[in-house]
Amino acid sequence: MKDTTCCNNRCIFCFVDQLPEDLRPSLYIKDDDYLLSYMYGNFVTLTNISRNDIEKIIKYRLEPLYVSVHTLDPDLRSIIFRNKDHLKGLINLRRLDEAKIGTNIQIVLVSGLNDGKNLIYTLEGLVKDFKNIISIGIVPVGITRYNKQQTLKPFSISIVNNTIEIVDKFNKDHYGPDGKKVVFLSDEFYIMAGIDLPIYESYGDFDQIENGIGKTIDFLHGIQSSIKGLDADSNSFPEQGRKSLMVSSEYGTVALEKAIEIIINNLSINSPLKMTIDSMEILTICNDFLGGNVKVTGLLAGCDIINSLKKTNTSKYDNIFIPDCIFNNDGFSIDNLSRDNIMDTCNNINLVDEGSKSFINCITGIEK
Ligand code: SF4
Repeated sequence: MKDTTCCNNRCIFCFVDQLPEDLRPSLYIKDDDYLLSYMYGNFVTLTNISRNDIEKIIKYRLEPLYVSVHTLDPDLRSIIFRNKDHLKGLINLRRLDEAKIGTNIQIVLVSGLNDGKNLIYTLEGLVKDFKNIISIGIVPVGITRYNKQQTLKPFSISIVNNTIEIVDKFNKDHYGPDGKKVVFLSDEFYIMAGIDLPIYESYGDFDQIENGIGKTIDFLHGIQSSIKGLDADSNSFPEQGRKSLMVSSEYGTVALEKAIEIIINNLSINSPLKMTIDSMEILTICNDFLGGNVKVTGLLAGCDIINSLKKTNTSKYDNIFIPDCIFNNDGFSIDNLSRDNIMDTCNNINLVDEGSKSFINCITGIEK
């Protein structure tokens, strides 16, 4: 197997550059590898790919690929990528598009840089000049407390609302009110704006769910589907009446609260399950380890979870549920704590995956 290809960019918002020192070496790898893009959905910039590899992608139909574009404006690309070869990314994207290779495009949006009019310009250009784009996903720039770039600023609510308006209008203008959308905003935009997420059906094939686009509504949709029939069986649930604590991030809490609301709204008035839901609490963990605007569950640090649990009267809970997605494949959190390190904090810790079935299982104690 060939070595991983690394990027030749120095992106202004590179998350790797915003990490604290002394984490495990794999976290500092800046991969930009079309095979990882094809196999795992990693985003590539195509600024560092050989002509040979482009032809290989075409010959073997390695699609879809996931490509970071950020902007079509050459001057702005130069500011963002900080790489004199930044235009190669667009030239290569065009070559792939002409060969009908499907791509999912990412735009990392930076407030005051590639948003507003520039975002419209980029969306118009992508839709007009590239015919094999499957989806365009827009995610807000992640800023940690280790960021040294003054250009990176958190999103104000007015810019968030403006971005939502731009994308809504763009989709309506290009695809009609009920047409298949191509441009999607990550869930964070709707959570920041404090408004409802778009409906499940509007996400089509959820092409960028791993990029946080449609993940929340997919979870809630799963809850809605699983809840049917729970009421009738609820007397026999092993977890009935037991007190649970669910550990989550700031954004994860929003999803959990909505899930609980859906369950309560779908239960009959005297449902025994109500008692179980009522005795469930959420422990929201702020990401002090990375700080900034990092509020997603997958980047929660083990130390923040342990510190919060130590300040909590954990003995009053029968179950403490911790999301398993904070660990990598080797079982370590971003700050290098092992599963055992966290499990040893207190009794009754259970690791759960983020899916709706797991959530229902936490409540009921039975597999659905
Ligand atoms: S391409 Fe990715 S890894 Fe490379 S500098 Fe840009 S953000 Fe960082």
